[in-house]
Amino acid sequence: MFSVNNTTFDPGHYAGANIAPRCSNRYSEGDNMLLLGLALNKEFGSPLTRYNGKDVSFPNRTAMAKKNGSKYLVSLHTNYPTDGVICFISVSRPEDKIVAEKIGKTVANKLGIQFRGVRTRKNSYGTDYYGMIRIPQRYGIHGIIVEHGSHREHCSNTDEKRRLIIEAYREVFEGKTSTKDNGIKEKYNNGIIDLPAKGYWTIADNDREISFMQEELNIIGYELEIDGNFGPNTLEAVKEFQEFYDLEVDGYVGPNTVEKIGEVVEALEKNGIIDLPGKGYFTTKDEGYEVKLIQQTLKEIGFKLVVDGIYGSETRGAIKLFQAKYGLKVDGYAGKETVRALNNIIKEINIPTRRVIINGEQIGAFKVTDNIVEQVKENLDKADKIEIEKVE
Ligand SMILES: [Zn+2]
Repeated sequence: MFSVNNTTFDPGHYAGANIAPRCSNRYSEGDNMLLLGLALNKEFGSPLTRYNGKDVSFPNRTAMAKKNGSKYLVSLHTNYPTDGVICFISVSRPEDKIVAEKIGKTVANKLGIQFRGVRTRKNSYGTDYYGMIRIPQRYGIHGIIVEHGSHREHCSNTDEKRRLIIEAYREVFEGKTSTKDNGIKEKYNNGIIDLPAKGYWTIADNDREISFMQEELNIIGYELEIDGNFGPNTLEAVKEFQEFYDLEVDGYVGPNTVEKIGEVVEALEKNGIIDLPGKGYFTTKDEGYEVKLIQQTLKEIGFKLVVDGIYGSETRGAIKLFQAKYGLKVDGYAGKETVRALNNIIKEINIPTRRVIINGEQIGAFKVTDNIVEQVKENLDKADKIEIEKVE
């Protein structure tokens, strides 16, 4: 069910993007869709992928939607050159047609322009052509692209038309507004969540912002159920976190704790080398192409694994064994260090075995790189004859 509470809006492009040609006013799709996004956020509380004119990568937009606990990621656009409203959904989520059609039809009705329908668009691999749909889809988020008419149709009376689009979304959302989500906007702007009036959470609380915090604690490495409930497990995790970071260990999530959690998450995100939205390591909640790569690597090293792209308990177990063997922190998460170690080993595995023959005598067969072959040749006495050949 599409609602204000499970939707992140994505203001499409960056500031000043896509200036409409032959327009009496200066119309930029990027600018107008940011204004639309900000208005939708203000009106319904639904979070955005950006609150300024900066461009954000598809994985990062996906990461934000995931962090927000959103099911839908609606990308806001106007079209060029074709007039009318058109929506795009994932080739693998035909069920999204219902929601997309409702949005498209309502927007077209409000604006009094044509509705051109709901489409999918495939690339040559048969997956979604648009990164804005394909990448969210990989992480279980329903990406929908909405072209709210053409640039031309929006370049006059732009403000009024934006207001009509908001009315259309209100109708789609059935007049519901959320009051609790604005903290997420604060988080991205200031790195601090607006806490409820009392200033901290206790086990009596049940809140969407608690879900957000649980999500963040999981990024740090806890395995909490994201239920918005400040239950005993969450309390335990909070206490542990406070202790580790020398905060007052009271289990209350006040501004200091919230700020510290944000800091740690941010640091993790910055240092991650994996192209995983926002977090930089894999946990049992992850699936997708990157997980497959990790499983494939583990398999080549000798673990018996099904390469299914699901980071399940088997994969986590294999990672733990791997970590133990290579002196890494044994937590079962495939983070930066672990992935780097895996990559190093696989590099060695892919190095060809070569037979080394010196002065007609085979001295052995080794895994050596081209670089090492060159070095060996350089360091041998000129009189020696060396032959190094690949072993198939
Ligand atoms: Zn666009």
